[in-house]
Amino acid sequence: MINIYEYKGGGYDGCHWEWNFFALEFNEDRDATFHNILSTGRKGLKSYEEFQEKVQSEAWVMRSKLSMYSSVSDDQMFEFVDGMSATNAKRVDWYLREHDLFTLKGHCWECGDVFDVEDMNEGPWEGDGGIGIYSKDLFCLDCARKRREDADD
Ligand SMILES: [Zn+2]
Repeated sequence: MINIYEYKGGGYDGCHWEWNFFALEFNEDRDATFHNILSTGRKGLKSYEEFQEKVQSEAWVMRSKLSMYSSVSDDQMFEFVDGMSATNAKRVDWYLREHDLFTLKGHCWECGDVFDVEDMNEGPWEGDGGIGIYSKDLFCLDCARKRREDADD
């Protein structure tokens, strides 16, 4: 079983925060392995010990908007993927597959059908308000092709 955690990490000059992610992989004895998927800036968590220490603080949990999504719940996985930017969904999915942990699925923004995140295209790119760019939505290949064709007309 894998729990994926999302929280406000980051923290640099000119950029206050960005979503960071880690996963806890549990074996049959309920021992956890910490997977650092994305940890940035001074607010990024680097280890399980650091997380265990931070999570004692209710103020940190509130401030960091810590959320947990369990791999055993399809609903939670959809909530996770559909609620985040396509850029982050691709990033988290890549890490999970690279480490043989899990394959993320999400809904195509256009037709609403379910696909592996790996098989979907990222939607239009936008500025993030700082110096970065990101894409918001995931599209299945059919819908991505249709959007490109419509844009060409
Ligand atoms: Zn679609």
